[in-house]
Amino acid sequence: MNDEFDGFILKQTDYKESAVILSVLTKEAGKISLIAAGARKMTSKNAGSILPYTRARFQLDYRDDKTIFRMKTARTVSFYRYMHENLEASLASAVLAEAADVLCYEDADPEVSRSAFDLLESGFDLLNQGKKTDLIMAIYLARLMDCSGIGPNVEECAICGSTKVSAVSIKDGGFLCSDCARRAGVPLMSVPELKQFRLINKADLSQYDIVERSVSGTTKDLSLLLGILKEHEGIEIRSFGLYNRLFAIE
Ligand SMILES: [Zn+2]
Repeated sequence: MNDEFDGFILKQTDYKESAVILSVLTKEAGKISLIAAGARKMTSKNAGSILPYTRARFQLDYRDDKTIFRMKTARTVSFYRYMHENLEASLASAVLAEAADVLCYEDADPEVSRSAFDLLESGFDLLNQGKKTDLIMAIYLARLMDCSGIGPNVEECAICGSTKVSAVSIKDGGFLCSDCARRAGVPLMSVPELKQFRLINKADLSQYDIVERSVSGTTKDLSLLLGILKEHEGIEIRSFGLYNRLFAIE
């Protein structure tokens, strides 16, 4: 009873009367849903501690066979002030949280949830430090997709296995050699573009500073990753649309 969980609030949805349902990614129990009763009342003592894209410590009665719980109390652990006050960083944080929310299923492999938790922690930390939002999103998405087993093939041609690659195909989910690309009608990419796409898909957020030095704009990488996510999983990261309208580099 009164079990405590440390988690990131991925989403907040209004629920009956004055309650909300929180989608929370915890380190210990993966993704869970919490009903916060009365959270929309002015008098709610928890209201200030359940803001989306913050990290909090929650008290609830945990059971292994359930994924939705009544929240008893919440206490903010990290508010990420800069990330919330800067529009670009805050829109990027919405993209990170939404991607974790749609890619982490409530009954997901604990390993996947733990990786997603660590990734989100690193991503929010970097956004809060004012680092480049597009690069954080690109590395984060690539890692999250890789952890979920749906990352692009950046080792060889996804059709014939040739290691001489010349393009990235959304439909084939990764690199293509020039012959396969021509046959599939996929435009060829330059060597630096291909190298950068591979780097982003191989890097970890802990290597952010090193990667930043060798990467120019990530518009193309991001649109390829999001394209693969949509084509193969049917998943569209809606909050990316708003970010893109306001901060697209092109
Ligand atoms: Zn090929």
